[in-house]
Amino acid sequence: MPINHKSVSATISIIILLFFTLFASVHKGQAQKIDILLKGGHVIDSKNKIDSEMDVAIADGKILKVASNISSENAKKIIDATGLYVIPGLIDLHTHVFVGSNSGFADGFSCVSPDDITLKAGITTVVDAGTSGWRNFPVFKKQVIDRSKTRVLSFLNIAGSGMTGFPSEEDVNDMDPRMTVLVIEQFPDIIVGVKIGHYRGSEWTPFDRALEAGRMANVPLFVECHLPLLPLEGILDRMRPGDIYTHSFCTAIDRMCLLDEQKKIRPFVLEAQKKGVRFDVGHGGGMFHFDIAVPAMEQGLLPDSFGSDLHRYSMNSGMKNMLDIMSKYLNMGMNIEDIVFRATWNSATSIKREDLGHLSEGTVADIAVLSVREGSFGFIDAAGNKMAGDRKLEAELTIREGMIVWDKNGMAAKEWTKK
Ligand SMILES: [Zn+2]
Repeated sequence: MPINHKSVSATISIIILLFFTLFASVHKGQAQKIDILLKGGHVIDSKNKIDSEMDVAIADGKILKVASNISSENAKKIIDATGLYVIPGLIDLHTHVFVGSNSGFADGFSCVSPDDITLKAGITTVVDAGTSGWRNFPVFKKQVIDRSKTRVLSFLNIAGSGMTGFPSEEDVNDMDPRMTVLVIEQFPDIIVGVKIGHYRGSEWTPFDRALEAGRMANVPLFVECHLPLLPLEGILDRMRPGDIYTHSFCTAIDRMCLLDEQKKIRPFVLEAQKKGVRFDVGHGGGMFHFDIAVPAMEQGLLPDSFGSDLHRYSMNSGMKNMLDIMSKYLNMGMNIEDIVFRATWNSATSIKREDLGHLSEGTVADIAVLSVREGSFGFIDAAGNKMAGDRKLEAELTIREGMIVWDKNGMAAKEWTKK
């Protein structure tokens, strides 16, 4: 049989081509570039049960790898995180960030622009606590959510126009579960739940409508309990597993405290906790008291999340930001691993956002690098009481979607030398 030279040379060409393709792909695998390599920090990633010294490699806005001794050969930027905690970006579950030019909260001046406060505190995600409702959510999205570096998620108020104050916020006719659900379904990546907040009537209709919307959209209900005529027991009884109660550790004139006069957790609160109701701090300017938080913690009622209730009038009071609340709990005796768990992974599961709050390979690179400063510090509650403390958490570096968005001491910056 004659040898077909043409077909032999074609076969050789194909083999050479395959060889080079294979070589190129292997080579590409070896040379995977790293945009940022955080070296030697103490990584706490509760979801993945990591609590040790590790390197974190970031590429294309995502976590490439978390391991010990990752080679820095292909890293564009190497940051020494020795002596610091490297954790998932913090999630503040209770904020008011629908800032605008009106008076009050909805589209108003009582809110704050999230980036002004969050990034410098290691917070990469905030959830707005129902400052908008189905009617004005599109304004909120366009005005704040789409323009912020911080990831802004939202609970949607059952009141159609959100937090507009009395009387419009309390108009039962404008509490429409169907419209609320329609808007939630339109923005499933942003809206994570329904909120019921201010209502001074004694009937359950607003609460039940909010619950109905939550049920229909299969999202949690966030209860910001300014509902003076609705008994606490009935509220907790109605709440489903996974629903969230905020302003948990305070005494306030418009509701019953979770603890009784002897500072014991009320039996129906324990029942709710057992059922799976989640308890958020919701510190704010007036909603966190050591007198309640400390005995609650001693009896096992811990915050599931450290929501700050950030707004213009809370952030310069006893409450500074969510990191300040975490420092309070650190000095109250909670260990740092537990604090990080509640501030990241547990907060993410509270809003059913399992894509957040951890450092798994391939997830978005939202990271906080924290220091624990030692010294003499004072922490103030909403009653103006000061608790002395010896440790304080501070955000040294914040990374959002793989970009450095906060660098307190220039740990990622290049050295300046006088020429
Ligand atoms: Zn609030």
